Amino acid sequence: MTPPPRAAHGTPDAAPPGTTAAPGLPREARRLAAEAVALRRALHRGPEQGLDLPATQRLVLDALDGLGLEIRTGRALSSVTATLAGAADGPTVLLRADMDALPVTEDTGLSFASRTTGVMHACGHDAHMAMLVGAARLLAARRETFAGRVVFMFQPGEEGEHGARHMIEEGVLEASGSRADAAFALHVHPNLPAGTVWLRPGPQMAASDRFRVVVHGRGGHASAPHTACDPVPVACEIVLALQTMVTRSLAADDSAVLSVTRLTAGTATGVIPDTAELAGTLRTLAEPTRQRLHEAIARVAHGVAAAHGATAEATVETGYPVTVNDTAFTDLVLRTTADTLGPGAANLLPAPQMTAEDFSYVLRAVPGALAFLGACPPDREPHEAASLHSSRMTLDEDALAAGIACEAAVALAFLAGRTGEPAR
Ligand SMILES: [Zn+2]
Ligand SMILES: [Zn+2]
Repeated sequence: MTPPPRAAHGTPDAAPPGTTAAPGLPREARRLAAEAVALRRALHRGPEQGLDLPATQRLVLDALDGLGLEIRTGRALSSVTATLAGAADGPTVLLRADMDALPVTEDTGLSFASRTTGVMHACGHDAHMAMLVGAARLLAARRETFAGRVVFMFQPGEEGEHGARHMIEEGVLEASGSRADAAFALHVHPNLPAGTVWLRPGPQMAASDRFRVVVHGRGGHASAPHTACDPVPVACEIVLALQTMVTRSLAADDSAVLSVTRLTAGTATGVIPDTAELAGTLRTLAEPTRQRLHEAIARVAHGVAAAHGATAEATVETGYPVTVNDTAFTDLVLRTTADTLGPGAANLLPAPQMTAEDFSYVLRAVPGALAFLGACPPDREPHEAASLHSSRMTLDEDALAAGIACEAAVALAFLAGRTGEPAR
């Protein structure tokens, strides 16, 4: 996915007159920018992986200290949930940042590069935490101006560990004392112009599942395949049949990606092995399609194996659900972003991305949205910047101020819309 760059670089000034955005937010966000960049760099230097991120949690707790938030930490994971109460009772909006890094050795040459070999904030979660702390700071200073509550969800284990699901099980959606009415998250994106926001109603990101097929044949001497049942050509045929199955079983306006990324068999050139194995990923944008393809993977594997007198075992490991944006909330984000950052900053994402997000668990339970925040480094064009998860991924830190303003503005706009009181 490479949406056309449409917006100017940077963060425009305060909202134009006659708009619904709380005035002054971009200016206040820019005032917090230096602090946000410093926090982001501190987090970037010391990345941690998985569900247990004690040093990361410490930095977040220290940064939130003194803001008058009600803070809870996780039991099964090192999460931080912070609740800000406004001047009066009202609805609850949840804002989320993920906290974990990836098993990647950093190759950016940055002065604040990871000090831990083999671990890097290559998905920008360091920027997410820094922006959410900034939004908390900005909103805490305005707590007398709004009714309702804002829950700040700092979540470990986004990269495959289902951290959001763990936090839901530990009550993050009820952290304010009543159930969250809406939820919002930003994900930085180095391949979109810095300071721009991109989202769409409906699927924004895909469901991601892993599959594995083991073909059972019968080994033997490589010179006499007729005395064996060779699983290698069967596995190869299954790879091709799976690709054909995807193209032939989906409507043109339905999307799925199936990639076989591992194919293993055998130990020696003179030996036909007993088994061959293939594994890969399945990405889908609709639950019925997802279920249908799970069944089809097994059917194709069993059928092709049977055709050659072999057998196959197929297993699918269910990953994150589809990330689905609520239509009304998407509209609110687009309007608020345009009012706060300027019309060019709010962009309708032309197509979903086939990457996956565990914020999908939150959006399955609460209406809301996930949006991409463009953060293309200043010395690159969006299409040529190193992508998320790359060892060379870098961000334009100027985008942090835009992200802080956007998160705060969306929270205020949602609360104002629910209570009928415009934020002052
Ligand atoms: Zn990631
Ligand atoms: Zn990420």
